[in-house]
Amino acid sequence: MKKITYLGLFLLLSSFSLVAQDTDPVIEAMIKEANDNSHLQGLGHELMDIIGPRLVGTPQMKKAHDWAVSKYGQWGISARNEQWGEWRGWERGITHIDMVYPRVQSLRGTQLAWNPSTSKAGVNAELILLPTVTDSLAFAKWLPSVKGKLVLVSMHQPTGRPDYNWEEFATDKSFTKMKEERDAQTKAWRANMRNTGYNSRTLPAALEAAGAAGIVTSNWSRGFGVNKIFSARTKKIPTVDLELEDYGMIYRLAESGQKPRLHIVAQSKELGTVPTFNTIAEIKGTQKPEEYVILSAHFDSWDGGTGATDNGTGTLIMMEAMRILKKYYPNPKRTILVGHWGSEEQGLNGSRAFVEDHPEIVAKVQASFNQDNGTGRVVRLSGGGFLHAYDYLSRWLNAVPDEITDEIETTFPGTPARGGSDYASFQAAGAPAFSLSSLNWSYWNYTWHTNRDTYDKIIFDDVRNNVILTAILAYMASEDPETTSRVKSVLPVNSRTGKQREWPTPRTPTRKGGLD
Ligand SMILES: [Zn+2]
Repeated sequence: MKKITYLGLFLLLSSFSLVAQDTDPVIEAMIKEANDNSHLQGLGHELMDIIGPRLVGTPQMKKAHDWAVSKYGQWGISARNEQWGEWRGWERGITHIDMVYPRVQSLRGTQLAWNPSTSKAGVNAELILLPTVTDSLAFAKWLPSVKGKLVLVSMHQPTGRPDYNWEEFATDKSFTKMKEERDAQTKAWRANMRNTGYNSRTLPAALEAAGAAGIVTSNWSRGFGVNKIFSARTKKIPTVDLELEDYGMIYRLAESGQKPRLHIVAQSKELGTVPTFNTIAEIKGTQKPEEYVILSAHFDSWDGGTGATDNGTGTLIMMEAMRILKKYYPNPKRTILVGHWGSEEQGLNGSRAFVEDHPEIVAKVQASFNQDNGTGRVVRLSGGGFLHAYDYLSRWLNAVPDEITDEIETTFPGTPARGGSDYASFQAAGAPAFSLSSLNWSYWNYTWHTNRDTYDKIIFDDVRNNVILTAILAYMASEDPETTSRVKSVLPVNSRTGKQREWPTPRTPTRKGGLD
C-alpha cells in the first residue's frame, strides 16, 4: 500500500468508464470477431501441442518463428524473422528414468535444458546423498566417494502437499508444527551447503569433476506435482529433475540404506551455434507510418512444459489482436507493429536487441503493450512512470467495454520496470511501454517455468478478454490525434539509501549465448 502514498493518483477505472460509448463501428466489429470467430484455440493447439516448447537455440524455437511468419502471411500481414544473435543449438530427446533397485518403477522426471546426451544405453548407478559436513575440508575429503554414483542434491521436502492444502485440512497445531520443522530443516540444509564450500549453482560441476555418474535434483514449486525446470550445470554427465513424490521416495530409500539404483536414459542433440530471431510483423500506417504502436510478447519459453502461459498466452493475444486489427482496421493511422521476442528468459535479449538495433522506431513509439504474466484477464495497468500516461491511457480505456475495464486497477504515474519482461527494454529507452498485467491463476507456483505449463491451463475466456482489450488499445493509440507524451515523472526517493531513484537505462543484450 506504500505505493499509493507517493504515486498519488490511484483509482479504479470503472468510475470513468461509465460514460464509455461502444458505438465505434471498428470497435464493435473487432469485439464481434474476437467473440464469434476466435482463432485462439487453433493457434494455441498449433503452438503448444504441435510445435511445443520454445527454448532459445532449439529447432522448435525456429519452427515457431517460421510458423508465426507464415500465419501472418495467411492473414495478409507482412512479417519477417530478424536475426539479432546466436545461441548454443540444442535439441531435447527422450528422457526415461527408472528405479531399477530395490524394485522397478518408472519415475516422473526430465533432463534439464542444454544437458548433453547420455549414450543410448544410458547410465545405471547407485544413488547417494550429500554428507553432513562441518567444513569444506571435510567435504573435499568426502568428494571422491561420488565416483560412479548418482548424487541427490536437493533437500527432501517433508510434504508434497502445498501449504494451502494444509491450511484447509490440518489442525492449526499440526500446520504450525510442520512449518516450523520445515523451516528448521531448510535452515540446516542451507548451513550444510555453505559448509561444503559450494552452493546449488556450483556444486554440480564439482561433483562432475569428482567423477559422479549424474546429478538428480527436485526443484519443487510448492504445488501438487509441480517442479520448476531450468538448465543443467553439468557439461558431460546427466542432470535430471524428478517430481517431488519420486525424489522423496528414492531419497528415503538411500537414507535407510537400501542402496537404490536408477537407470537414466537422457538423450539430446548438440546442434552447434544457431542464429536467434525476433519475429516482427506490421500493418503499415497510412497517415503517420513512421510512428508506431507496438504489441509485445516474448515468444521463447523454458521447456519443462510447453510454455503455454509463459508466454504462449501473451503470444496468442498479440497474434489474434493483429489478425483482428488487420481485418477491421487495415489502414491504421500509425504503423501497428508486433514483436515476438526471442530469449526473454535469459535476460530480455530479443527486445533489448530490437531497442538497440532500431533507435528510429523506439524514438517514435506512440505506445507499446506487453503481456507476460500468465493466462488471466488483465487486472492491473500502470503508467510506467510516464507523467502524463493517465491522460492518454484513460482516454483509450474509455473505449473498452466496462466489463473489461471494471476489473482493471490502474496506477498513475507508476514507476518504470527494471526487468521482469520486455516492456522494461522499451521503458529504459524512454518509450511509453506498458504491461498488461494479468490475474494470476496460480501462475507463480503452478505454471511459471514449470513442468505443468501446458495447454490445459489456458483460460480462453480470459485470453479472449485480453485480445479485445489489446486490439482496442492499439486502435485507439493509433487513431489518437495527439502524439503521446514521454515526460518522465520524478521518481521517489529510495527509502533504504535516501537517494533519488533514477530512470533505468537501456541494457546490452547477450548476443552470443550458452556457448562458454
Ligand atoms: Zn515470460
